Amino acid sequence: MSLDPDDARWSTVAGSVLPYGRQTIDEGDVDAVSRVLRGDWLTTGPAVDQFEAGIAGCAGVSHPAVAVSSGTAALHTAYAALKIGHGDEVVTTPLTFLATATCAIWQGATVRFADVSEDTGNLDPDAVAATVTGRTKVVAGVDYGGHPIDAPALCKVAHDAGAMLLEDAAHSIGGSLNGTPVGALADVTTFSFFPTKNLTTAEGGAVASNDAELLTRARAFKGIGMVRDSRLMRSKDVGAWYYEMPELGLNYRLPDVLAALGANQLKRLQSFKARRQAIADRYHAGFGGLDVLRLPTHRQGADPMWHLFPLRIQDGRRRQLFEYLRENGVGAQVNYVPVYWQPYFADLGYRRGMCPVAESYYEQEISLPMFPSLADSDIDRVIDLIRIFVEG
Ligand SMILES: *Cc1c(COP(=O)(O)O)cnc(C)c1O
Repeated sequence: MSLDPDDARWSTVAGSVLPYGRQTIDEGDVDAVSRVLRGDWLTTGPAVDQFEAGIAGCAGVSHPAVAVSSGTAALHTAYAALKIGHGDEVVTTPLTFLATATCAIWQGATVRFADVSEDTGNLDPDAVAATVTGRTKVVAGVDYGGHPIDAPALCKVAHDAGAMLLEDAAHSIGGSLNGTPVGALADVTTFSFFPTKNLTTAEGGAVASNDAELLTRARAFKGIGMVRDSRLMRSKDVGAWYYEMPELGLNYRLPDVLAALGANQLKRLQSFKARRQAIADRYHAGFGGLDVLRLPTHRQGADPMWHLFPLRIQDGRRRQLFEYLRENGVGAQVNYVPVYWQPYFADLGYRRGMCPVAESYYEQEISLPMFPSLADSDIDRVIDLIRIFVEG
């Protein structure tokens, strides 16, 4: 395995460094990709169909998912399919990757941030209820770290306000809440298949929903807005070459080469999940009795897919712990800088202090190594390092 030293997932410390996340590729994955490369379709062929059916099965929805070229593309496609535009508001969490918010802005919407719950770091339904207005069209929650959002409560707040619930499930494919899979909990769900996520296509994403019309709009959007189904066309019986563009779109297609990797990875999703749970259990056992540490919560009814292991250190020494881990070869990460702290938002007038729970979550948080091929001996080394740091 060769590591690109410029890759942001790796510490810049020389020598062997434990990353916070990494892909799990086996020879079956290599064979699946090779078969596509030797075949007739490099993009938008049978592997995409197979992957879209596989994602739908995993997400518990009745229509094929719409595969796209990244999790960011999935969010943009979902907002477009929800018909978000100028004058509309999207309420979302600041404790997320930038794209959850920025893709709504690309569609012309205004973003409003609501605070998170202190235990899960997920959007707090009460905070959302206090933030929605008559212009709110979408509430966008994120399954932070892999723990599903409180979708029933958020659906109610969103629907009561005349809005839809979008679930950014970049962290949580394979998880569930009260027996309902992530993918069937919200009006529309987006996934990311970036290498550090729970399942990879190198770059990739998908949009899942039970709403057939929304999916039709999503499918057109990721294909430059083109439709070839005559039922969707204004002019009839022009000829078999004919296509129309009722709405704008972009090229967000996922190639067959990458879909084949994803379809093969999907077969191992449950084993990835079991290993991630075992790693979380080992961290929990190893950090027992250390009151200064706050470990990720697991709410009743939730079956998380632990994409991250977000540790919180409550004595104000997050930066010292982070640097100490990096000096000792542990490539920890911080997820996330509150989105509205970014200069882009600051310049628009968004002010620090708006979501105090998310801000204090950020100020205490460190994501520890969490990926299926992480060895027990490495987990124990991370635990020992942190115990020594905390107990002094
Ligand atoms: C990774 C991620 C995205 C974006 O996915 P990409 O595939 O990197 O474009 C969006 N939202 C969240 C919460 C993510 O973690």
